This record gives sequence, structure tokens and C-alpha cells, in this order.
Amino acid sequence: MKILANDGISELGKSLLENAGFIVITEKVSQEDLAKEVNDQGIEMVLVRSATTVRKEVIDACPGIKLIGRGGVGMDNIDVAYAREKGITVINTPASSSQSVAELVMGHLFAISRYLNDSYKNMENGDFSVLKKKYAKGVELRGKTLGIIGFGRIGQSLASYAFGAGMDVIAVDLQTNPVLVKVPIGTSQEASVSITPSQSLHDVIGKMDYISLHVPKQADGSAVITAKEFDMMKKGARLVNASRGGVINEDDLLVALENGQVAGVALDVFENEPNPRKDLLNHSNIACTPHIGAATMEAQDRIGEELASLIIGQFTKA
Ligand code: NAD
Repeated sequence: MKILANDGISELGKSLLENAGFIVITEKVSQEDLAKEVNDQGIEMVLVRSATTVRKEVIDACPGIKLIGRGGVGMDNIDVAYAREKGITVINTPASSSQSVAELVMGHLFAISRYLNDSYKNMENGDFSVLKKKYAKGVELRGKTLGIIGFGRIGQSLASYAFGAGMDVIAVDLQTNPVLVKVPIGTSQEASVSITPSQSLHDVIGKMDYISLHVPKQADGSAVITAKEFDMMKKGARLVNASRGGVINEDDLLVALENGQVAGVALDVFENEPNPRKDLLNHSNIACTPHIGAATMEAQDRIGEELASLIIGQFTKA
């Protein structure tokens, strides 16, 4: 069987599939040519990350597709229910990237606390002494409160890093069962902390020094953070979004930065990917990364391995 891994697959995942007899094609096909290539090459499985979309039109145009695989969590780029209705197997690898996304968020939390992104941009052409003064108002993470909105796999992983950094954590989620967060101490010991998420963001948002979003794209497309929530935040709060574009209203975000309600922001995801607004990218108080939450060697290996084992498990039985 031929597999098109259109947004790439780790060497490990590719070799596991090839050793099991699958042909794995990794040459990227443009979105417009996807259906034609799938049909012309007799491809039966399409693997994507977040870049390639597999919508109803592609599914209808490619009756030979047996499986669609998403390396990662959010399946908002695939018409999952429609594909399943058509008898197509749809798989993803929800847990493989949680730790990597949490580590990126920690990197962003440190970066926006010390203006690292703006400092990097200005060092080459700026005056050293002027810049030294400009960035002399950094803040520490230890002792601060991190609000984690969306307390699923990534939110919980982030909590373990935040505890390690000496932060308090307030979790917000639709479900309010207590969660035991494991906090590794070195590589051989661990502590654990029980957290009971709040269901009401508005009750707790004013207590957060930092806020990180880990909710899925909302079913109705609405933003979780809008002007109303910005107004309820602590003055000078700092915010990270490594979940999905659209979860923060980008117009309201710019207003909150301009009026000082928010002191610093980091964005890994954007409403208009892959062409985010220039006023976000150019803003001196916004640190941007191009949707790289899961882009570590370790996460990609776990994703490739998990996809391969799911495919081999389902399609190589006698
Ligand atoms: P998850 O399903 O384990 O957790 C999401 C949690 O959000 C759930 O517990 C759910 O109850 C909660 N939730 C949903 N809507 C909410 C709301 N309005 N208010 C409060 N809580 C709400 O998902 P996950 O694996 O932790 O992934 C979280 C997000 O991260 C997803 O959007 C995913 O697409 C994104 N993600 C981004 C990257 C990246 O590269 N930046 C990589 C992987 C995942």
C-alpha cells in the first residue's frame, strides 16, 4: 500500500512502515494537486500534520483513500466525521507532542519576561547602552501565578514544568475533576500535586500573572480571550497561545497591548496561518514562532512511531 506523508514523517516512522511493506512517499504535494496525485499514484493513506487539509472535496475526489492520519493532536484540518461516514479510518497521535509543546511554552514564558525576542531583533543595529536600559524591567517567573486555560494533556504537562519553576498554577477547564500532576525531580524522582480546575475563567482570570491557552479550536469558532477577558486580567499580565489561532481575538489583543493591559505576548499559532498579520509579527511586545510546538526530534519520533504502529496494527493483519 502507498502512503503519502504530505507534511513529512520522522525517519523512524518511515522505516517502520517500509519494513512492514508499505511504500512511503514524502515529496510534498500542493494542496491544489492533492486529490489528483492521490488518484494518479494510487495512494491509499494520507498522513498530514497541521499544514495539509483533507476536506470533503478531497475525500469525495479520492475514493481509494482508506486511511487519513494526523501526526499530532488537533484534527481541525480534516473533515473527520465525513471521512468516517465514508468508511475511512482516521487516526491521530494525541499524546506524542504534549511535552514538547509545554517546553516551548516555558521558553516563551521566560522570553516574554525578559524581552528576549525584541532584544535579539535590536542587538545588531541598536546602541548597546540604550538597549541595556530598555530591557531593564524584566520580571521573574518564580513566585508568580500561571493560569492554564484548557487543562488536558498539554495543560497538565505545562503545569509540571511551571511547578518546577516555582510558580503557582490555576487551571481552568470544562471538566472539574481533580488531576494529579506529576512533577519530575531530576530523572529518577517525582513529586505530585493535585489540581482541581475551575470551570469559570471569569472567576479566576484576575489572579493570573501569566496565562497560557491549551484549548482546542472552539466548535463555534469563537475566541476564548476577547476584549472582555483582557479587561478582567491583572494589569501587565503576560500571555502565551500555543493552541490554535482564533482562540484569542487578535484585534482585541493588539488593543490590550497598546493600552498596557497586557505586557507581553507569545504566539505560536495565528488566525491566518500560514500568513499571519504583519502587525502581530512586527510588534515589539509579541514573540512569534511559526507553529513549532511539536517540532522537536523527540516528538516527531514519537509521532512517527505511533502512526506506524497504528497503521501496521490495522492494515497488516491476515
Ligand atoms: P486535550 O484535548 O488533551 O485538552 C484540551 C482541554 O481543553 C480539554 O480538557 C477540554 O475540556 C478543555 N477545553 C475545551 N474548551 C475549553 C474552554 N472553552 N475553556 C476551558 N477549557 C476548555 O488537548 P491537548 O492535547 O492538550 O491540546 C490542546 C491544544 O493544543 C489543541 O488545540 C491542539 O490543537 C493544540 N496543539 C498545538 C500544537 C502546536 O504545535 N502549537 C501542538 C499540539 C497541540
